[in-house]
Amino acid sequence: MENRVSLVSKDITIHVLDIDAALTKEDVEKAIGHSLGNSRSHTVKVSSIRPSRDGNQIATVQVNKVAGNILIKLGKVKIGWVGCRVRERVEITRCFKCLEFGHRRHECKGADKSNLCLKCNQPGHKAKDCQGKDFCPACRDTGHPADSTKCPKFRELLKVQSASRRVSKEANTNHENQPHEE
Ligand SMILES: [Zn+2]
Ligand SMILES: [Zn+2]
Ligand SMILES: [Zn+2]
Repeated sequence: MENRVSLVSKDITIHVLDIDAALTKEDVEKAIGHSLGNSRSHTVKVSSIRPSRDGNQIATVQVNKVAGNILIKLGKVKIGWVGCRVRERVEITRCFKCLEFGHRRHECKGADKSNLCLKCNQPGHKAKDCQGKDFCPACRDTGHPADSTKCPKFRELLKVQSASRRVSKEANTNHENQPHEE
């Protein structure tokens, strides 16, 4: 029996770093398209571009799988005069029922905490009205709320996932894949 899965060309999201501050979305789109050889089998769409802490810009780019794999393998793409670093966006699965990481709601075997405050983890109010102390249910510890990128459990998972995605590409591994607040 043949169990064929239809191949949907799914988009993936990448981040392009080190973009010159003077360049626009269109410039970035064009440059990435150019570096891919302007082939029709590639789709490139810059969904947002924003200033980074180092005075350059970071673009969030939706590309189809073919284009994405090429760019991630290259590790860099020339935009303007600069070879800009390419990073695949790493997504950490988050369960909104038990508020822990690594699985989704429908796979959850944990307790239902979806009615609890995301900040202090107590019932009866929402995070925006919270007077309590930050408490993370994933760590079972105070100091940061449940939805924080500061959470050490979140950071650990991010590290593991970034590393496992880089196996095919040993070069350019000395740049940290920073979590981003979006
Ligand atoms: Zn869960
Ligand atoms: Zn609270
Ligand atoms: Zn935590």
